[in-house]
Amino acid sequence: MKKTLNDVNVNGKTVLVRVDFNVPIKDGIITDDNRIRAALPTINYLIENNAKIVLFSHLSRIKEEADKSKKSLQPISKKLEEILGKKVLFVNQTRGTELETSIKNLKEGEVLLFENTRFEDVKNNEVVKFESKNNEELGKYWASLGDVFVNDAFGTAHRKHASNVGIASNISESCVGFLVQKELEMLSKGIDKPEHPFVAIIGGAKVSDKIGVIDNLLKKADKIIIGGGMAFTFFKAQGHSIGKSLCEEDKIDLAKSYLDKAEGKIVLPVDSATNNEFKDSKPSFAGLDLPEDQMGLDIGPKSIDLFQSILKDAKTVAWNGPMGVFEFENFKNGTVGVCEAIANLDGAFTLIGGGDSAAAAIQLGYKDKFTHISTGGGASLEYMEGKVLPGVDIIKNK
Ligand code: AMP
Repeated sequence: MKKTLNDVNVNGKTVLVRVDFNVPIKDGIITDDNRIRAALPTINYLIENNAKIVLFSHLSRIKEEADKSKKSLQPISKKLEEILGKKVLFVNQTRGTELETSIKNLKEGEVLLFENTRFEDVKNNEVVKFESKNNEELGKYWASLGDVFVNDAFGTAHRKHASNVGIASNISESCVGFLVQKELEMLSKGIDKPEHPFVAIIGGAKVSDKIGVIDNLLKKADKIIIGGGMAFTFFKAQGHSIGKSLCEEDKIDLAKSYLDKAEGKIVLPVDSATNNEFKDSKPSFAGLDLPEDQMGLDIGPKSIDLFQSILKDAKTVAWNGPMGVFEFENFKNGTVGVCEAIANLDGAFTLIGGGDSAAAAIQLGYKDKFTHISTGGGASLEYMEGKVLPGVDIIKNK
């Protein structure tokens, strides 16, 4: 078990907190502040427990010097100040005298935010990736600025960067923050110790993106429902006609081998909503074989019924990837149907891995209907693949 905030003494200490403030910003305005709010339990706890708080985060990617003016954390600092109702000292450096002096002068309960950690990826217009490639000297430098490191950025936990792994490797005390703690508790309950029957639902565009998840969940789940564009590679493997639907020719054999080894665990759709091109207009419907001029853009009504009947008795459900092109009004029904089926389960533990399925559930109005919607797309996907998350692994154990 990893140390959590409750296991370390932060009183009077300078606490370095890696948060995930990678929020969408349009014309200098933050369009969704959920990630800032998600860090509040950790920040407020540190304020109440007299820590000197140093926050830092990445924002988007920095590929050239010109990106820096658009990707500053300054607007985030203002937003945090507003949400916290407390002064946040912003330092527009990622290293240097001003940063060091400002941290030294911090008083207990005060909050400082420094500039985008990925500014360290470009120096004098040269791509150096000091942050993203976990430059040793940078990790050591950032670690030298504080006494305790708290990782509360789940969204980058699957990355080995200077601002998580680098710092944690070079500081004597570290722990996870409340957000990461909750993510780990929920993912562990849903994936590692599921109550049975455990039904996994995997969708999205490509088989190749989800191979690791299928592999890992085949060992754990009682049923794996497969929908979305990736289902067509499985149909092709079964010898069906798939028309113009998405298909990864080089994954057909792999799909076949999964179907063989799954011994009936894998459940595929039985019909599709189709269109003659990739566009949002009135669908046609087809059974297992599609006409040549059609592409499958969603699962059909019989599949929704089938999936609902399988989900009905589940005690644990883990979902990653939409059932169709949910961004299109005419092809969102499959994803809505599955969302509804999971949302209406009584007493089941229901989990959505981040990314598109989380976006779909939130956009469709089911945000509060799941036990947990992960905040980290890539990180929760890697957790579902059974991989170790480096940003968590490096944190001290209890
Ligand atoms: P992923 O990021 O792999 O979870 O894939 C999500 C994307 O897959 C979404 O943008 C969907 O629009 C897309 N998608 C789902 N089903 C299909 C389909 N049948 N054909 C094409 N794209 C699809």
